[in-house]
Amino acid sequence: MSGEPMLSVKGLQKIYQADSGPLEAIRNLTFDLPAGQLTCLVGPSGCGKTTLLKMISGLLNPTQGEVLLAGEKVTGPPKNMAVVFQEYGRSLFPWMRVADNVELPLKAAGVAKAERDRLVSEALEAVGLGHTGKQYPWQLSGGMQQRVAIARAVAYQPKVLLMDEPFAAVDAQTRADLEDLVRRVWKQLGVTILFVTHDIDESVYLGERVLIMSSSPTIIQEDLYIDLPAERNQLETRALPRFTELRHHVYEQIQKAKTHTADVADAEAKAAAN
Ligand code: ADP
Ligand code: MG
Repeated sequence: MSGEPMLSVKGLQKIYQADSGPLEAIRNLTFDLPAGQLTCLVGPSGCGKTTLLKMISGLLNPTQGEVLLAGEKVTGPPKNMAVVFQEYGRSLFPWMRVADNVELPLKAAGVAKAERDRLVSEALEAVGLGHTGKQYPWQLSGGMQQRVAIARAVAYQPKVLLMDEPFAAVDAQTRADLEDLVRRVWKQLGVTILFVTHDIDESVYLGERVLIMSSSPTIIQEDLYIDLPAERNQLETRALPRFTELRHHVYEQIQKAKTHTADVADAEAKAAAN
């Protein structure tokens, strides 16, 4: 393997043409994800997290800049990538059984039947839903549905897994379980994960690295290495003094980013008025 990053985001900018005029959601984002890293991206609501994931997954064209997946420019949805969205309720087909939902992308990719069956049952086992294949999504709780969405992404064996605030809509206990599930699956599969959240604690608990985004127009405020032990658990890890230090730090950076953005906006407004 060369030292080439799995994912490269270069000078990405997005200006939406909104009814009220142009809106610069993202100003300039540049970062690399090495293969196999679990990176969290944390930033306030409206800072452009979903916009960024849409550009990375080839669903939205950037205004400037580019995304490279294993060195190749992304121009449409890449086949080596899977995305788990926040709204699990809308991401599964209610008329298809759980196993069929998980199997769908594999069918679309032309994977042979025996191999599909193996991947589907392994993925459902991995998320602790080995017994639910014949049920329908609406027969499961919200947290279980989100686990099905994760199983579907995992069965597909993507090189890169993007997750957009996937646990924002589940209760606290389920959320903690799902966080641990992500770390377990990540370790088992060695997949490169970009996990987007607005939750500072979640970003520190999950990530090997946290990218802190500023408010819109968005830049990377800081690229932080998370030096917590690789073996994490909800009670002990969150009780570590280092965990508290890191979450304070991320919190402060996000606050700083807000005032910084306000300063820049002020200066621009003054310049425009002159
Ligand atoms: P986040 O996911 O961090 O909450 P989004 O990426 O959804 O942020 O949105 C970033 C900014 O871009 C917001 O100000 C939002 O209103 C705006 N925005 C998002 N999608 C569109 C769109 N299709 N057209 C115009 N503005 C948009
Ligand atoms: Mg969003």
